[in-house]
Amino acid sequence: MSPQERRAEEPAGEIALLAAALAARLDRRRRRGTRRRPEASRPEGAGDPGAEGARPDGNGRKRAENAQETPENGQEQADFDTEAIRGRAAACPDLETLRSEVAACRACGLCETRTQTVFMDGPERARVMFVGEAPGADEDRRGVPFVGRAGQLLTDIITKGMGLERSSVVIANVLKCRPPSNRDPSRREKELCTPWLERQIELVDPEILIPLGRHASGHLLGSEASMGAMRARVHDLAGRRVVPTYHPAFLLRSPERKRDCWQDIQLAMAELDLGGDR
Ligand code: SF4
Repeated sequence: MSPQERRAEEPAGEIALLAAALAARLDRRRRRGTRRRPEASRPEGAGDPGAEGARPDGNGRKRAENAQETPENGQEQADFDTEAIRGRAAACPDLETLRSEVAACRACGLCETRTQTVFMDGPERARVMFVGEAPGADEDRRGVPFVGRAGQLLTDIITKGMGLERSSVVIANVLKCRPPSNRDPSRREKELCTPWLERQIELVDPEILIPLGRHASGHLLGSEASMGAMRARVHDLAGRRVVPTYHPAFLLRSPERKRDCWQDIQLAMAELDLGGDR
């Protein structure tokens, strides 16, 4: 009989073994970050950016009360750092490899509540790349960005407004996993996910980036400015043109802003020599 087995036969030894096992388990959980149970059943579409409750800030998402950094939204996933993710992203030679890496990513707490990662929609190379903030409930379920009502409006902008096939442009988000309850992503979650997006942009190599909404636009441009201050202009991002516009979910709630969006899209089209007004 091993010393361990002998100890387990004695009541005090058994308690000591249980305590050691519990301590090891707690340590593992602390290092992984706090686990969350999958969300309880939530009304259909509650996390959709176009759902009731989105605020008129030029963005598609509802501002949630729990948007500050808490263990529940990944702050304690301390085993990961942005540079390590950047290294893994940089090592991906193509989008399929990058997609697989993202699908396996557990860098922030959103991995605990996602159904699946939402990587992108579109071809491997495109002249235009739209970037939203994060997947909603429909996207999380289907694994495709911009589906549902806001997605349909974006499709109309692309097909009826720009005269392009949706399948000819790339659509992605800053975050690849859905924040629960449609809350705003935390700063840390965006930091951790950004290297994936940066590599994605490098590989797609679009001529024009069109960030949708204030959060995606501000994140890409490193700006705290309002949507009104960022839109209607062509920005430069490391030699790449960026034309921010409103999020389609915001346009569903504020249709009077569609005219502004159309101006931004025309600006992008002019930059691409697809017609449109500068
Ligand atoms: S949101 Fe981004 S960083 Fe967080 S787990 Fe998903 S892919 Fe990884």
